[in-house]
Amino acid sequence: MSDVLRQISYLIFPRRCLFCGTVVAPHICSCEKCLLSAERVAPPVCLGCGRSKDRCACGRRKRFFTAAAVPFYYTGSVRECIIRFKFGGKSEMAKGLGGEMAKAASGAFDNLKLDIAACVPMYKAKEKARGFNQSALLCRETAKQLKIDCDCGLLKKIYETPNQHDLPSNLRSGNIFGVFEVAKPEKVAGKTVLLCDDISTSGETLNECAKMLILSGAEKVACVCAAAVPGRDKKRS
Ligand SMILES: [Zn+2]
Ligand SMILES: [Zn+2]
Repeated sequence: MSDVLRQISYLIFPRRCLFCGTVVAPHICSCEKCLLSAERVAPPVCLGCGRSKDRCACGRRKRFFTAAAVPFYYTGSVRECIIRFKFGGKSEMAKGLGGEMAKAASGAFDNLKLDIAACVPMYKAKEKARGFNQSALLCRETAKQLKIDCDCGLLKKIYETPNQHDLPSNLRSGNIFGVFEVAKPEKVAGKTVLLCDDISTSGETLNECAKMLILSGAEKVACVCAAAVPGRDKKRS
């Protein structure tokens, strides 16, 4: 595209802050206020939970996914952005967040050949009430930018459960045990699946979905989320 055409396209489709949606200059991706309060996951990174090693939240449970990657912590402008995205219907935010997820995934999984992207599903009635599944929107965008196939109907949630976020950590694993099923096992057999979600709290949901994918014949599962609830900072505590 020529410079002139690009200038004209910015007039028609102005560049917006990735987090709050205000118009920003064409060469930057977020406004100054959001940039200052967006907490990026800094290297060295733990591949088990996608957080910085000093904030690792892996615990001791058996893990069914090979690796996890996350661009941001669920704090400040990132948290506000995801809440607006989920409950305010700002589905265009999927593009910016999906782009960041794709970057995090291609950096962390450069030794894996990702075959297909899938998302953590919502219970059908809940998705109908909200109008969209935010994880599916992120999944589509991430897959598009990574140029891999995507099937948001690969996994299904067969019961509704309380939010993981609202439960104490000792109840989270039991809360989602057995609630997911692989709707299309023929699509995952022998494949490396990129599993996408919006927020990673303790990783139990990702792990339960990964378990079902592996049981259905997937060779490997790698997880990517937009943001992770920060683990305890081991340098500070
Ligand atoms: Zn902003
Ligand atoms: Zn970890």
